Amino acid sequence: TTPAMQLDRRADFPILAQPVRGQRLVYLDNGATTQKPAVVIQAEKDFYEKSNANIHRGVHWLSQHATDLYDQARVTTQQFLHARRVEEIVFTAGTTDSINLVAYTWGLDNLKAGDEIVLTGLEHHSNIVPWQLVAQRTGAVIKVVPVLDNGELDLDAYQQLLSEKTKLVGIVHVSNALGTVNPVAEMTRLAHQVGAKVLIDGAQAVAHTVVDVQALDCDFYVFSGHKIYGPTGTGVLYAKYEILDAMSPWRGGGDMIHTVSFEGSTYAPVPQRFEAGTPNIAGVIVLAEALRYVQSVGLAQIAAHEDALLRYATEQLQQLKGITLVGTAAQKAGVLSFLVDDIHPHDLGTILDMDGVAIRAGHHCAMPLMTRFGIPGTARASFALYNSFDDVDALVTSLKKAQKLFGVSDE
Ligand code: PMP
Repeated sequence: TTPAMQLDRRADFPILAQPVRGQRLVYLDNGATTQKPAVVIQAEKDFYEKSNANIHRGVHWLSQHATDLYDQARVTTQQFLHARRVEEIVFTAGTTDSINLVAYTWGLDNLKAGDEIVLTGLEHHSNIVPWQLVAQRTGAVIKVVPVLDNGELDLDAYQQLLSEKTKLVGIVHVSNALGTVNPVAEMTRLAHQVGAKVLIDGAQAVAHTVVDVQALDCDFYVFSGHKIYGPTGTGVLYAKYEILDAMSPWRGGGDMIHTVSFEGSTYAPVPQRFEAGTPNIAGVIVLAEALRYVQSVGLAQIAAHEDALLRYATEQLQQLKGITLVGTAAQKAGVLSFLVDDIHPHDLGTILDMDGVAIRAGHHCAMPLMTRFGIPGTARASFALYNSFDDVDALVTSLKKAQKLFGVSDE
């Protein structure tokens, strides 16, 4: 990794020019949310200045213009995920919203008492709790793929768990807590052998690796706009057309119907059936701008850059005394979780913040995973395309300072 190979995109992100506590901002909390490039911020302003109207109902020019932009955003998203058909893309409010949609439509339609839902020990709460709620209603049972000491899934145990009873497998593509990249294509193939459907939580993956839903052959793929340099309150559900088309409506209202009478209603074709009411029009259009931005930088370049940062940060932390890395999987993306002897992660986060270094401390919405490791939480540095080797150096310098402050350094 010569410096010439590195991405240098910090200047694309206005917020990174703003000092924090009088210091250069070192933003390493990208697992929680990413910052937005100027083109994305501009797209939001442009929409409200030039294109704002409600979609799908107006006869006037502005409404048709906004509708065109919204429909174009769906094509951009389809191409981004390499989906076969544009109708396979549903816009939602985020990953959580997408998973709830699947759980409350496909789940309630297809699960019955004794059926099994296989989830992994790496899941975010948003790919656990909706399934628990639906399991309570249907009598389905949740089984969990165990996590190995290095943060990888126990794939032998996974194979053992799969049976004719398995109806759905839910897998996080990249763990937001440890960075583990799961072998989702192979896991999907195995799930399909027993006739189960597969939902992949791509919240932590899409900004870090090329996703091709046809190559993965998954049935559902979900992600959030805000983790890929786009707006909060936006998200995507990809579902194979035949599955989506067979799913019951969920939220009822305008735009999702074909006809309505008090005797009963008929429903719009997918994906409109799942986009009741006025959607986040600006958000969706701006999300497409974020996807174009990522594609213009290049996901292969982003992945190589973030891998180099992760390797460098890992080496640096391994050289410090009193630091334990949590999650040392062979395949990782963008996340470094660790513990520092005698310093609580929250205290560490607070001390680093004094130096303008933003990390996250806590359970990362993966409490079962923390329980698996017998810890309440970790400190987590998570990378984005705009981070640099300087950012890693700042993290390490600040960490050493914290250790000195707590008297746990022998320097
Ligand atoms: N899954 C993973 C792996 C995540 O990292 C997150 C966000 N932390 C979510 C799901 C939930 O995403 P959101 O809060 O945007 O719905």
